[in-house]
Amino acid sequence: MKDYFRPNISRMKGYTPGMQPRGGGWTKLNTNENPYPPSPAVKAAIIEAAEDLRKYPDPAGNVFRKAAAEVFGVKLEQVLCGNGSDDILTLITRAFCGPDDVMAYPCPTYSLYPVLARIQDCKSVEVDFPDDYGLPMGLLETNAKVVILANPNAPTGTVIPLGDVAAFTSSLDGIVVVDEAYVDFADESAVRLVERHHNLIVSRSLSKSYSLAGLRFGFAVADAKLIDGLMKVKDSYNVDRLSIAAATAAIRDQAWMQANAGRIRRTRAALTARLRRMGFSVLPSQANFVLARSEDAKSARAIFRALKKRKILVRYFDHRRVDDCLRITIGTDEEVDRLVAALKDVLSGL
Ligand SMILES: *Cc1c(COP(=O)(O)O)cnc(C)c1O
Repeated sequence: MKDYFRPNISRMKGYTPGMQPRGGGWTKLNTNENPYPPSPAVKAAIIEAAEDLRKYPDPAGNVFRKAAAEVFGVKLEQVLCGNGSDDILTLITRAFCGPDDVMAYPCPTYSLYPVLARIQDCKSVEVDFPDDYGLPMGLLETNAKVVILANPNAPTGTVIPLGDVAAFTSSLDGIVVVDEAYVDFADESAVRLVERHHNLIVSRSLSKSYSLAGLRFGFAVADAKLIDGLMKVKDSYNVDRLSIAAATAAIRDQAWMQANAGRIRRTRAALTARLRRMGFSVLPSQANFVLARSEDAKSARAIFRALKKRKILVRYFDHRRVDDCLRITIGTDEEVDRLVAALKDVLSGL
């Protein structure tokens, strides 16, 4: 068939999501979902909102914006709702990145960023992380219109100190996006930098820490002028009635989210220690996963496959910096026990 697509779309590959297996019996530690259920207030809010599905939702999702503004100590006008934080990232690239612009980000990081750059047909520049996974200073020389920093980073779980993010944002002429999909498992957030840094956008997700990956809700916090401009490029109703109600209930129940995040941090510390005792080197993680380095790419891939045969899913990335690693989502203590037992079994047979 004739190729009707724009050349950049024809050339590109779409994003590859982690495997969602059918049928039961799997221990799923591959896509960083939360092992605990969302706040009970979420279900109640969805049932109530379902009464009104005949009517369009509020285009801006103002009840959520108000609730989030209260939680984060910002104004309602500084909050933007998204259909997952992937939608927030899409709106940002759609609004700021054209064919003459550069989007830059450290490497390795979340593999959606290059996909978004290709859709926009803008240039993407990847700057290698240093060995300590701090801020790559080369990002300042990219002349980027938009720099995206996943902080904590995926798939490493490492963190760029907030002071470095602030100094970098001051020095950059373009927009800095801090993708905080995992920040509730970390020590500090860049949200408080938004007040002084007018070129900073902080992106948040309800998928991981609020246990709502199936719902699709994310949001951004930034200067009101940036949020205003981003509103112009979103779908008119990018968040629906059920998700606005559910996300509002979830964000109001900070205690529930914090309790689960605390549990996950404790399991993360225990798993890190156990993996180290087994001979893996594990980067210090502030996310709900750890990156465990085996000896080489061959053994990491073999372990990944052997675990999969035992119905345990972790994530393997065929990327030069991490192709000797396994990324393991922090599950419940029972799930982690099952993983460790299977790992011991697999390693003894290799
Ligand atoms: C999971 C993830 C997201 C996407 O989150 P959604 O809100 O589910 O779209 C964004 N950024 C990073 C780094 C992620 O790992």
